[in-house]
Amino acid sequence: MIQNILEISYLIASVTFIMGLRMMSNPKSARKGNLVAAAGMAIAIAGTIFLYENGSGYTSREGLKMALIFAAILVGTVIGWMTAKKVQMTKMPELVSMFNGMGGACAALIGLMEFHHNVGNTGPQMAVVLGMIIGSVSFSGSIIAFLKLNGTMNKPVRLPSYNIINTFIMIGVLAYGAYMIFSGTDSSVLLYLLFALALFYGVMFVIPIGGADMPVVISLLNSFTGLAAAFGGFLYDNKVMLTGGILVGSAGTLLTIVMCKAMNRPLSNVIFGAFGASGATAAAGSSVQGSIKDINVNDAAVLMNYSKKVIIVPGYGLAVAQAQHVIHELETLLESRGVEVKYAIHPVAGRMPGHMNVLLAESNVDYGKLVEMEEINPEFATTDVVLVVGANDVVNPAAKNDPSSPIYGMPILDVENAQHILVNKRSMNAGYAGIENELFYNPKTSMVFGDAKDVLTKLVSELKAM
Ligand code: NDP
Repeated sequence: MIQNILEISYLIASVTFIMGLRMMSNPKSARKGNLVAAAGMAIAIAGTIFLYENGSGYTSREGLKMALIFAAILVGTVIGWMTAKKVQMTKMPELVSMFNGMGGACAALIGLMEFHHNVGNTGPQMAVVLGMIIGSVSFSGSIIAFLKLNGTMNKPVRLPSYNIINTFIMIGVLAYGAYMIFSGTDSSVLLYLLFALALFYGVMFVIPIGGADMPVVISLLNSFTGLAAAFGGFLYDNKVMLTGGILVGSAGTLLTIVMCKAMNRPLSNVIFGAFGASGATAAAGSSVQGSIKDINVNDAAVLMNYSKKVIIVPGYGLAVAQAQHVIHELETLLESRGVEVKYAIHPVAGRMPGHMNVLLAESNVDYGKLVEMEEINPEFATTDVVLVVGANDVVNPAAKNDPSSPIYGMPILDVENAQHILVNKRSMNAGYAGIENELFYNPKTSMVFGDAKDVLTKLVSELKAM
């Protein structure tokens, strides 16, 4: 009977995960979807704590176990709650990366704990070892991604022939794992060595990835964590863990495919390390010839006021400036003057997948106005003014014209096809990929220097005064 109730709680949780994920695909229902899935998770956790092992009595050992479980939940909840509450929107990608790493670490710990219980049982031991390896790679890789996203480690570190070295380490880890599964060894020393080697591989896997190639790696690490959790579910024959792991793993894999497509990189390059190789020149940059033209906010306002169609290209700088509300105000103001306004959304704009969608949803921009890259690109030719706000790499023509560029091959927003290009940023500094942008030297481009929030606020007041 108790076992049945437990299974039902797992079923409810699994259904809420699927419902939650479905609701998260739209900004309007995303918040609710998150809560629905979290409630399902709470049910599964409560079910496991109170009903697993049929709630068999409370000896003093059981009591101690319970106390430790609740202490861990309390510490985790307080830290997680406070971090998520305090985090600034611009630090969100780092937080997501860190949380992903924590999921990987949990899977790795399960592997370390369960290894000795499954020696000689090939099937379950396979789940233990693979879960531990993938979880460890995801954990250490996510820590490196965290450091890259927060700027602590902003230059890719590449050993000579790093892709050969990495492929070699990966094969080594897998062969070592196979030995641990099939040899029937019980050695803790060998187990911890494998753990250390998998952690090392995670570092080596992410450390060479440069500039604009990070989104693919982040999505891939995401899918690794899901896969590692699914192995845990398989091991414990725990349906909800299995469902949750598979959902995260497949969502991460789909995202990886979408990001690969966005970056125009085959997935095999990511896995075998050739990925991002051309980024070696990123830090050096390229020397773009020509001069730039800067205009004041008043002139920019006049240009926009007399346009028929304006496309706004948001980028990471919009998130830094927290200018999502004022950009929405600008959009509604222009529309009230009969100007057609759309947002062009590049799949890797910002610092996490869907960053611009989340940011603009915060200020209630109509979701229908956010147009994906492939759909909006043909529209630039019929656009009077493009307003690029805090975006750089996603509008860099070097991706199309310069084979030596680290972003060469990445599809970009074809803003140079519009009649006028207004670019708002604070200086001539480079974006995440660390390269110069010839768009700023285009005769059609006018720079409007300043913090995005300040410039857009002034733009709104100038327009109101017209
Ligand atoms: P970029 O990082 O290329 O450029 C952002 C620009 O914003 C900078 O050049 C900066 O110039 C400007 N900026 C910063 N702060 C402000 C401010 N307060 N006001 C106005 N401008 C500001 O951003 P993009 O969105 O164009 O491209 C994203 C990049 O990040 C890509 O290379 C992508 O691959 C990478 N990436 C994306 C991830 C994802 O999942 N989306 C994850 C990891 C990396 P200045 O300092 O002169 O103001």
